[in-house]
Amino acid sequence: MRRLSFLFAALLLLALPTPAAEPSGKPTLALVGGRVIDGYEGKPIEDGVVLIAGERIVAVGTRTEVPVPPGTPTIDARGMSVLPGLADMHVHLMILGHGDYEHWDRTYRPRFAAEIMPAAARQLLESGVTFARDLGAPLEDILLVKRRIEKGEIPGPRLFVSGPFLQHAPYNDYEKEFRWGVTGAADARAKVRKVVDAGVDLIKLIDQDQMTDEEVRAIVETAHAAGRPVVAHGHREDEIRVGLKHGVDCFEHTGLATEPAYPDDILAALRKRNQGLAWCPTVEGLFLSAYTADVFPGRLDDPRWQANLAPDLVKDIRESLRNITGLPYFQLVRRRLPTLAAKFKQLRDTGVTLLVGTDSGIPGNFHTDSTWRELATWVDLGMTPMQAIAGATRWPAVWLKREKDLGTLAPGRFADVIAVKGDVLTHIDLLQRVDVVIKNGVRVR
Ligand SMILES: [Zn+2]
Repeated sequence: MRRLSFLFAALLLLALPTPAAEPSGKPTLALVGGRVIDGYEGKPIEDGVVLIAGERIVAVGTRTEVPVPPGTPTIDARGMSVLPGLADMHVHLMILGHGDYEHWDRTYRPRFAAEIMPAAARQLLESGVTFARDLGAPLEDILLVKRRIEKGEIPGPRLFVSGPFLQHAPYNDYEKEFRWGVTGAADARAKVRKVVDAGVDLIKLIDQDQMTDEEVRAIVETAHAAGRPVVAHGHREDEIRVGLKHGVDCFEHTGLATEPAYPDDILAALRKRNQGLAWCPTVEGLFLSAYTADVFPGRLDDPRWQANLAPDLVKDIRESLRNITGLPYFQLVRRRLPTLAAKFKQLRDTGVTLLVGTDSGIPGNFHTDSTWRELATWVDLGMTPMQAIAGATRWPAVWLKREKDLGTLAPGRFADVIAVKGDVLTHIDLLQRVDVVIKNGVRVR
């Protein structure tokens, strides 16, 4: 199979003119001289060129392989790492890091669509995130923001959205717009159809261990029949078991303090499904409260997360995080940290595809500061920087079935490219200072 596809690729190369020699359109931008990390986990290209024509990449290679036509606007990338725009596969645009969800939802709900979500989207994009999954928001609001970004009206990552969580029952009245309770299989089917017809890209299922088998089956079957994957919480062991039984496509998070390791039956089931299943462990947020309180309280004063936010929001968010370790949200988090590395390794060892996602927007987890932290945490937990980068570029695109458009630097992909001074393959946390962000062929930073 491998030999055959190699042969096929070689024939294709012979049959087609190289994109550098004959680009589909006149090149409009080139990044020249950087170390190009294409997302495929191979050896990086030194002194590389990424050539862009319009909204697409037309050639990637060394400076000798890819000549830049005279007159092409050029970004000098010498000394920089050049890589695909990052994915964050678990964000919440409706929140900006405030410590009290009830206060936030009750006070700022009318400002979500016009102000708060666009601000979050802009922060993510300027931090190098060029595509993202939003996993929980009021339906009309998130679809409006997604479409405004697609039309180029506001800056932001390409969004893949779920709209509301589908769950057994909303937890509180003020969350009813983005947490839809499901009562019976017919209701489950109707609610999936409603969000699919409205235009969501995927379904977000949580607390499936509290639903009936019929309800969960109805949700997954209806979603899959409409070509929409199902993303489910994987906090509790039974939540994972029910999700696996019904064939969900991706799990989120890494569980509870009271469940310190994954049991054998779950690991066996994950190994069996490993080709078709992804997991978004969202680990960086777990370290945030202790880090902020004990190591670097100054991150709360960083002007980057405050930029372009209304002063009343900044003040309210900042005050809400005054005692970050005392927030109910972080109550059990310190107890989860000692077992986290072992659980992360258990997941890796099953062969399940790990995706970078951050729960960006949860208390203290600013959209300007979340995604690079997840990559850095993966490296702390034993991955190579190259593997972490692939988890934020190629694998998210593969999971979304958009690998021909997104996630790697190769001819034909959308020109979503970032560049950062220095060597990210040794110092992954350099990604906290992204110098160049290009989306759809246009430089936005
Ligand atoms: Zn979340």
